[in-house]
Amino acid sequence: MTEISQQRTDLRNLTEDGLVSYVQSLGQPGFRGRQIMPWLYRPGIEDFSVMTDLAKDFRKVLDTKAYISSFKNPLLEKASDGCIKFGFTLDDGNIIESVLIPEPDRNTLCISSQVGCAMACSFCLTGTMGFVRNLTVAEIVNQVCAVRDYLLQQPHAAQTGPGRITNVVFMGMGEPLNNLPNVLDALSIMTEQKGLDLAVRRLTVSTCGIVPKLKELGNKTSVNLAISLHSVNNTTRNSLMPVNKKYPVEMLLEACRKFPMPKRKRIMFEYTLLEGINDSLEDAKMLAKKLKGIPCKINLLHYNECLALPYKSPDKAKIIQFQQALINAHYTVFIRTSRGADISAACGQLATGNRQKKRTL
Ligand code: SF4
Repeated sequence: MTEISQQRTDLRNLTEDGLVSYVQSLGQPGFRGRQIMPWLYRPGIEDFSVMTDLAKDFRKVLDTKAYISSFKNPLLEKASDGCIKFGFTLDDGNIIESVLIPEPDRNTLCISSQVGCAMACSFCLTGTMGFVRNLTVAEIVNQVCAVRDYLLQQPHAAQTGPGRITNVVFMGMGEPLNNLPNVLDALSIMTEQKGLDLAVRRLTVSTCGIVPKLKELGNKTSVNLAISLHSVNNTTRNSLMPVNKKYPVEMLLEACRKFPMPKRKRIMFEYTLLEGINDSLEDAKMLAKKLKGIPCKINLLHYNECLALPYKSPDKAKIIQFQQALINAHYTVFIRTSRGADISAACGQLATGNRQKKRTL
């Protein structure tokens, strides 16, 4: 962090209400905060000189007291399937990653909420980094701003999807519920019309199951919830996800049953199939039994094998057999093909400490 930015307030850390309080602390009427908000999220705005609806004197005050952060010159890697991984260098030198997943009808951006992660899931490369620190609100929001700006600069012919970010998922580095206050403020900025104006129904927070924080998430926002489940057998889940020792399967699923959700909304359970560990027919039947009564969908994920971790993905026939057992039990089940695996951008592959960074675009 530069000396100047240490002394000034980064306005991208503030929600609209936060901006109102901030300008009031500078002796200005609260509505000035609401006036600033849309400027902060317009592409290309980096200083206050362009905010011509603010008095000149106030703009001068803002110049000395505040600034607008942004991510510059990301490290870019493009996968053969069109996924793009963005590496953003933070002020303290740490690097975080976001992944853009283009599809014909949508552009999903997978973003990070922490540098590293404390949860140490045994199949996840981010988990091997350990926890470094929480991201600020601005560092979360700036991932979306930077990728939005990148898409705006691309010629129409080069775009696969709709040319803008349509969906955001918190499935990158970190456990979002361990950084909940900043994640909630970032969600508020993303969904605010004067902010990034994304539809709430297109935002998803994924958690490994920090049970006490689930209720707070559900009470404070109506974004989609995804649960990294991967097993409903406590012994297996303990070995895959240490969080299960504190919040075992029964406790987690009970919290899911009570999760405040509008009618027709469903929880997404993420289940990565690992050969010989959680991929048997017995596992599928047990999963169907334990999820009974929870409005949900199930995503079966191919495991992205890597040299650093000992797991393997089962073959296609076994994955389809697993899916069929769940369909027979009347669940909606998708098999998710791995995206961006050749640039280590797929689920569980984001980890900046142990790879060489490259700029390939
Ligand atoms: S799977 Fe998620 S919660 Fe688990 S270590 Fe990886 S980033 Fe953390």
